[in-house]
Amino acid sequence: MPHLPCSSLVAVDRVGTVVAMLRERGYRITPQREAILGEVLRTDGHITPQDVTRRVQRRLPAVNASTVYRTLAMLEDVGVVRHAHLERGAEYHRTEEPRHVHLACSRCGAEDDLSADEVTSLERVIGRHRGFAPDLTHFAISGLCARCRLEVEAATRRRTRAGQTPARGRTARRGPG
Ligand SMILES: [Zn+2]
Ligand SMILES: [Zn+2]
Ligand SMILES: [Zn+2]
Repeated sequence: MPHLPCSSLVAVDRVGTVVAMLRERGYRITPQREAILGEVLRTDGHITPQDVTRRVQRRLPAVNASTVYRTLAMLEDVGVVRHAHLERGAEYHRTEEPRHVHLACSRCGAEDDLSADEVTSLERVIGRHRGFAPDLTHFAISGLCARCRLEVEAATRRRTRAGQTPARGRTARRGPG
């Protein structure tokens, strides 16, 4: 048995608490639903419905994708998980995880998060637009990670040098004055 990270030990406790809360609200909790819940609570960060299905199937081979989707929707209704849209589609994480904004590289799929401070200042900037209050946590900000950005810029420079695209003065990098 591999060493369990702290979050796994917390998860064991939490599964019981959440199951009790769900039963109180009239949800029927099958062993499949309980296994799905356990998998989500054990995960730090994001998990896709496909990953949940694959992992739960190791123990309960009869679990299918639609049970997983329905259970995740149920868990979202009661506020245990939230979904966010990343490059690969919707992913779930525990609601109790700190609020964060996702950055996703559209070229290599690398993911990063903005810090809480960065999120706050970004919200402030957008809020100046007629008081709009953005929910930046729901969709990832798509773009290029630093490495892809360098690679794309290097490729563009190579093409420019090779004369495949007209330079139009962009190569004339003179200093100020
Ligand atoms: Zn996230
Ligand atoms: Zn959504
Ligand atoms: Zn990248």
